[in-house]
Amino acid sequence: MTIWNLGSINADIVYSVPHIPSPGETLASTGRAVFLGGKGANMSVAAARAAARVAHIGAVGADGRWAVERLLEYGVDTRHIVEIDVETAQAIIAVDTNGENIIILHQGANVKIPTHVLEQALTQAETGDALVFQNETNLQVQAASLAAKMGLRVAYAAAPFDSGAVMAVLPYLDFLILNEVEAAQLKDTTGQGPQDIPVKDVIVTLGAKGATWFGPDGPINVPAHKVTPIDTTGAGDTFTGYVLAGLDRGQPMLQAMQMASKAAAIMVMRRGTADVIPDLADVQSFSD
Ligand code: ATP
Repeated sequence: MTIWNLGSINADIVYSVPHIPSPGETLASTGRAVFLGGKGANMSVAAARAAARVAHIGAVGADGRWAVERLLEYGVDTRHIVEIDVETAQAIIAVDTNGENIIILHQGANVKIPTHVLEQALTQAETGDALVFQNETNLQVQAASLAAKMGLRVAYAAAPFDSGAVMAVLPYLDFLILNEVEAAQLKDTTGQGPQDIPVKDVIVTLGAKGATWFGPDGPINVPAHKVTPIDTTGAGDTFTGYVLAGLDRGQPMLQAMQMASKAAAIMVMRRGTADVIPDLADVQSFSD
């Protein structure tokens, strides 16, 4: 089976700075590094690392060819990522010596994915395939409705959170994943807690408290592993990618979540995002 991921692809440009600059201040950085990022790219890499077949649907500019090559190296099918005449999305990140950060996000090509690219990709989808998407691209409603009509399993990671975006795709979803803050925001804006949402499977991730699955048997918690976190960035995306890969392999939800919990625990002990997502062999041999 294939996991189709309509997803963002970012260049994460990380500047080390002595302190977070104040308005009007010019500050020299003490270091610069460029990483592959974006929730979409992270999830594609995670699911591919978890041995699923993953086809990414997205767009970059000419400045993003390296990112597409990187995805390919990690085992992602990149044939449905187009190069368009818009710059690749960038996250400009400044991190100070205390680990405090500021982020400026330029969405660029992520929100200019041409409709025909999505449609053409999904014509190749087969029964049993899944579609996943996040709130970092255009075409979310089109993708969800088309995939639902084709009978694919439709999964949404509601991040960055926007209640309008969630409500627009809700009727098409089989699976919704939120973190604790996003679940609280959904409750505040719509009055619906995770158990009230009319979606077959809802997962709320709770950081070091694990993740709760609201499915047909009521809420079930899968605890997190006890590890010392170094950098939690990308833990959620890794968790989601691993859950989807497990379901794709035919695992029951709880088993998929247990594997995802191990993958995310390894991830929080590593600095970085897409480039350090553990593979299945790492995850299978993990014990705390
Ligand atoms: P991020 O935005 O940082 O990628 P998130 O907010 O989307 O993360 P979290 O709920 O923080 O997602 O974490 C996702 C999963 O990662 C958790 O359900 C858990 O399994 C694992 N995890 C997160 N933090 C820790 C931790 N400190 N120790 C062990 N596991 C963790």
